[in-house]
Amino acid sequence: MSSATDRPEIKFGPYEVTKQIFLVTAHSFALVNLKPIVPGHILVCPRTAHLRLTDLSAAETADLFTTVQRTQRLLGRCYFSPPGDVSAGGSFTVAVQDGVEAGQTVPHVHVHVIPRTKGDMGASGTDAIYDKMAAEEGNVGGALWDVQRRPSPGGGMARVEDAHRSARTAEQMEAEANRYRALLEDVAGGK
Ligand code: AMP
Repeated sequence: MSSATDRPEIKFGPYEVTKQIFLVTAHSFALVNLKPIVPGHILVCPRTAHLRLTDLSAAETADLFTTVQRTQRLLGRCYFSPPGDVSAGGSFTVAVQDGVEAGQTVPHVHVHVIPRTKGDMGASGTDAIYDKMAAEEGNVGGALWDVQRRPSPGGGMARVEDAHRSARTAEQMEAEANRYRALLEDVAGGK
């Protein structure tokens, strides 16, 4: 696999995210999040900046979700106890906000892969992640849409300006991407 530095620039919608990327496949890439809802919240995207899930070919769709599976195995190693136990060590919220009415704020298909562990939402309960997502105002991801129309909250996924979520520095994100890249070599994709 190539490193982030010897690849051409890669964009997530309008954003240049080359150094945040830790995995590139034939049709997809995975990147660390500017404002993760919980540690390990990453995104998987098609390399072609399709707007909607239905715009993907069969090959792109299969590759996208095989890549999601691989990132799940990776994240299980990093965030679950015992490490890597995806079936018993923890769970995932895997979500696509497919279109503005569903809350999509970056005009490039992206699958949210969010590792979930017991009690991660505190006393509010497991499904509080959806309340948290729906209640947020504004978003960094939608900044470019402001030129025309900022999507109004409609989906369940977290808006990036949630008071509880802070934007990371480029260095923090690059360090996370480097950590994942180093671990990925022995993490498989689909079954
Ligand atoms: P959505 O609201 O479903 O479109 O999700 C957008 C996601 O993109 C959120 O998880 C944001 O935190 C994330 N995001 C926005 N801008 C960036 C960026 N420049 N780099 C990484 N993640 C980003």
